[in-house]
Amino acid sequence: MAQQSPLPILRDVRSIRQFRTSMHGPVSLVPTMGLLHQGHLSLVRLAAEQTQFILVSIYANPSQLTTPEEAGFYPSTLKSDVDLLLALNEQLRHKGSGTVQAIFAPTDQEMYPCSPPDSSPHGVGSFVNILPLTRILEGADRPSHFVGVATVCLKLFNAAKPDKVYFGQKDFQQTVLVKRLVQDFLLNIDVVVGETIREDDGLAMSSRNVFLGTRRRTVATVIHRALQAAQEVYINGQVDRDELLSTCKRVVEEEQTKQRQLPKPQRTNLEIIYFGLADPVSLEATDKVNVDRGAVICGAVQLLPNEDILDEDGPGGQDSNGSVRLIDSVLLEPRKTGQRP
Ligand code: AMP
Repeated sequence: MAQQSPLPILRDVRSIRQFRTSMHGPVSLVPTMGLLHQGHLSLVRLAAEQTQFILVSIYANPSQLTTPEEAGFYPSTLKSDVDLLLALNEQLRHKGSGTVQAIFAPTDQEMYPCSPPDSSPHGVGSFVNILPLTRILEGADRPSHFVGVATVCLKLFNAAKPDKVYFGQKDFQQTVLVKRLVQDFLLNIDVVVGETIREDDGLAMSSRNVFLGTRRRTVATVIHRALQAAQEVYINGQVDRDELLSTCKRVVEEEQTKQRQLPKPQRTNLEIIYFGLADPVSLEATDKVNVDRGAVICGAVQLLPNEDILDEDGPGGQDSNGSVRLIDSVLLEPRKTGQRP
């Protein structure tokens, strides 16, 4: 079951179940797909403030990775991921807070015992669907993505039996989906959402950012700038969907115009996939922000492969098939009466 490491790496469901019985007290689970970065670690830190026993799962779930391109994003980086968690554990021990007790890194055979994972929209097998959440926003052009997410979460929760689970706000729709999963399937689990950790220039940290390369990396901040612009417009009193979303689109279109004027070897081509304004709890599309509830704007922008590739573009720049989909979100906080413009 475990490899030579001060952190047990559990590969099968039987081992995690057995291990779970050795932890006497509330257990937190931080689900990840690996390629860990500070965003993931912030969730572990949050879990460590709230519980003694933490499990981190590392599993690049095939049923949510809907294209071969996406599946290729997740090479196994288990060794470096373990090293990051060991270093974090040292810091957590010094603080006297909770620590990571084990890593659950199951095989596909363990997670999908009866049939291979099938990420086609009407794939054969046992899947969890949560409508309409799986088909809106990020799910509109990836109809099986959130079916895969809901399915793997239920499997992970059944295997690890956590009391609390931690998810990042960056993937806002995922947090709403998991909360609905827990509610509708009567799971006795607290879903905790951690803030989005960003690079200094505002780009949300993501395992995918390494595939951008230097040229596209500078342009990648556009999605955050677009969402921030809309947030500012909201703070100044605007609540109308069309106004808020066209603010986001304008920022991206300005960047597109700027890029088109550059010579090919310097240019980055980008496309808006969607921007949506929704209720922060139900994720239903809304025409106007209800200022008592606030709202969320979720968006996705695709950075296309570079046309003329230069050495200095880095690995992402040289991957001619490698479009990178960036997703991000911003919360429009409820307004207190005194704050209304
Ligand atoms: P992933 O490995 O991409 O599936 O992400 C695992 C968890 O980490 C999810 O709950 C993500 O929302 C969360 N996460 C990813 N990036 C960030 C970030 N920049 N800040 C906070 N949480 C993040």
